[in-house]
Amino acid sequence: MIIAIDGPAAAGKGTLAKKLAEHYGFAHLDTGALYRAVASRVLRAGASPDDADAAAREAQALTEADLKAEDLRSERVSDAASRVATEPGVRAALLDFQRAFARRHPGGRSGAVVEGRDIGTVVLPDAEKKLFVTASAECRAERRWKELVSSGSAIRLEEVLKSVVERDRRDQERAQSSLRMAEGAFLLDTTKLDIDEAFTAAKAYISGPN
Ligand code: C5P
Repeated sequence: MIIAIDGPAAAGKGTLAKKLAEHYGFAHLDTGALYRAVASRVLRAGASPDDADAAAREAQALTEADLKAEDLRSERVSDAASRVATEPGVRAALLDFQRAFARRHPGGRSGAVVEGRDIGTVVLPDAEKKLFVTASAECRAERRWKELVSSGSAIRLEEVLKSVVERDRRDQERAQSSLRMAEGAFLLDTTKLDIDEAFTAAKAYISGPN
């Protein structure tokens, strides 16, 4: 079984996807990490994240080791990731890897949870279960801000909100694979839910008849 989870930045997809994968014994792929790793490579190469050729080149050269880069969750890489993600050459280079991961079910698992922005719409449109996880921009910014502050950053909440809104805009407005809810997906708004409540709602949908 494939569970596709899409939604905007900092909506809680990551935590939910991990919990679901653990619960069902499935493999888990965070596709945002792939875009972040490409962005990190572009920045390390001294290129601009808006340079389409450089971004596509780094996407084609991506290795497993890049997924362990220390700066992947930094604000600088978050911003660059949402820029490289608008380049069709980058998306094309990452498509096969994502599909192969879902088909392979690493570790002999019977399914996979794949999370991102275009999983249920473009990458794995045949996924058996599709969730669209969202929350208000203010709520997502606050969660992301708490995460950054707890890892030692002195960033202000307003700055994080601005960056979240800008990333949403780029994801929604890009020409290819823009962020939208897949047809028939289960909408999970986590604005007023904690992680356990979101997990319970997701499980009820996945194990339910639809
Ligand atoms: O999910 P996360 O915030 O880590 O993703 C980083 C960036 O990668 C996002 O801002 C988005 O622009 C891009 N992304 C994408 N398609 C995906 C996953 C992530 O465009 N499937």
